[in-house]
Amino acid sequence: MSITETLALVLALGLGTWALLTGPRRFGAGLTAALAALAYLLSLAPLLWLALGGLAAGLWAVVRWSNRPAWLDGPAHKARDWNRWREITQWLLVGAIALAGAQYAVNVWQLDSGVPSVARPDVVDAFLPIAALIQLKALLTLGLWDSHHPAGLVMLLVAVGLSFTVKRAFCGWGCPLGWLGEQLYQLRRRLWHWDWRTRLAQAPQWLERGVTGVAWLSDWALRLVKYGLLAWLANLVLGGMPAMMVARYLDGAYHKAADLKMWALFTQPSTGMLLGMAAVLALAAMRRNGVCRYLCPYGALMAIAGVLSPYKVRRNTALCLREGRGMACDKCHRACPSRIRVEQVLTVHSDECHSCQRCVAACPAKGALAVSLPRHRLPLSPRLMTVILVLFLFLVPLMVHTAGLWQSDTTGQLRWMLWQQLDRLPMF
Ligand code: SF4
Ligand code: SF4
Repeated sequence: MSITETLALVLALGLGTWALLTGPRRFGAGLTAALAALAYLLSLAPLLWLALGGLAAGLWAVVRWSNRPAWLDGPAHKARDWNRWREITQWLLVGAIALAGAQYAVNVWQLDSGVPSVARPDVVDAFLPIAALIQLKALLTLGLWDSHHPAGLVMLLVAVGLSFTVKRAFCGWGCPLGWLGEQLYQLRRRLWHWDWRTRLAQAPQWLERGVTGVAWLSDWALRLVKYGLLAWLANLVLGGMPAMMVARYLDGAYHKAADLKMWALFTQPSTGMLLGMAAVLALAAMRRNGVCRYLCPYGALMAIAGVLSPYKVRRNTALCLREGRGMACDKCHRACPSRIRVEQVLTVHSDECHSCQRCVAACPAKGALAVSLPRHRLPLSPRLMTVILVLFLFLVPLMVHTAGLWQSDTTGQLRWMLWQQLDRLPMF
């Protein structure tokens, strides 16, 4: 494991521990015990897992029996505090990716002068989604585990597993590109506070209705684009490539150099690529979550997996100010970056819900809104969402690493040779 991966892991474990210690007692304790049991079961490095198991058991004891001071629990419902958990988690993930990116840049830079002394962080394989889909097909049809970019498949499965559990929380809490899009959007709003809806409100009613209708239809049509891209990729890999070709591809030079190809694509972009990147950045700046909503095939995959998630945003009408007190509250809707009409439904089934909990944080009626299981059971606080994210995005890869299934076995010498002839590599 490289230095940056270890550093990111230690930080993530620290954040997860902090969240566990400050979270609700019973759930935190159960989660810690489950983690210890899982670590033990999956262990192939008994000493490491014994140490982690001891840590988890210690945490469990602290959470279960200590009389924690009240300040440790924090306010029960304070919007700023709730949003802060998501921001801390996002910053941790963005920091981890930035560190890995810097180490990877040094690694490639050193390739020019021979075998690098700085190791390649395997987590960069997470940015090879097509390779990961091909690896998935190889695993399902041939029982073949790719040894060149295995971390890519691991991260794909982790992201899908996360979506099965808490919908698109990966998009709302974990994706560095989603975070970048949000920063661009907020920057554009600060520099140029233009909103067509505000302008339209001053227009005649017939015009307002017409434009709103066209915008609604266009939004629906554009949201299908990401599913189209996902279907095209899936068909290319799962339908268009026979199993034997998959095996040949995974053994070929092109696949072994897939990360270097990706690096060259972004660091030496063609004019078309530059124009495409500019269009994507402009979309992210002009439309909140625009890239996640319209273009990202990964987001489409998370949305499909999220349909089966038991955790969803649920509104308790007995406590909501609308039904409970007859008030015209719609704070949850106005806080939602995906503009979902939360105040009009009991459960948010929308594929655009990122489980970001902004609506929950904005709700003035305690308990009226929560990301919870059916019948409002086991609501997830942002702290517990952080713990779940850390478990999926850091501890699962650690377990896979411990089992020896994370590391690439492409040698430095081979990578140097592939780098020298990157433009001439055959695909099969
Ligand atoms: S419904 Fe709530 S959790 Fe879902 S995207 Fe909107 S604000 Fe976020
Ligand atoms: S913000 Fe809360 S109280 Fe207001 S409509 Fe939404 S769920 Fe009900």
